[in-house]
Amino acid sequence: MSSPDIESKYAPPLVECINCNHMLPQGLGEIECEICGAICKVTHEPTVEALKSESVQCPHCATIVVAGTQKRPVELSCESCSQKFNLTRKIVKVEIECPSCESGLRIRPRPGKRELTCPGCTNSFNVTF
Ligand SMILES: [Zn+2]
Ligand SMILES: [Zn+2]
Ligand SMILES: [Zn+2]
Repeated sequence: MSSPDIESKYAPPLVECINCNHMLPQGLGEIECEICGAICKVTHEPTVEALKSESVQCPHCATIVVAGTQKRPVELSCESCSQKFNLTRKIVKVEIECPSCESGLRIRPRPGKRELTCPGCTNSFNVTF
């Protein structure tokens, strides 16, 4: 039996590469830019604190378990029922507006340029992060 997954409530902010200004892959610590390969150091103290002190409910017995680490994904074991579960990374989404019909699209940002098709007006447009 595999451990159930719980999505973390906190995620590091989306930051840009200091070298090329594209978005960096989400994370904390030394992050390599997927566009230009520069290594950027990403630190964000409030997120680190929030991740360390994040408390989640054990999916097996509903006891509150404190993460105690900024690492995600991380396997936690419940002190009360000794079962395990995974606390996974929060999936960050951004809202962008279709340039043709102005309807809002929620997408998961990825570094670089990509083409999107609006589900409302089927118009295609490019976004760059
Ligand atoms: Zn870069
Ligand atoms: Zn439990
Ligand atoms: Zn549209």
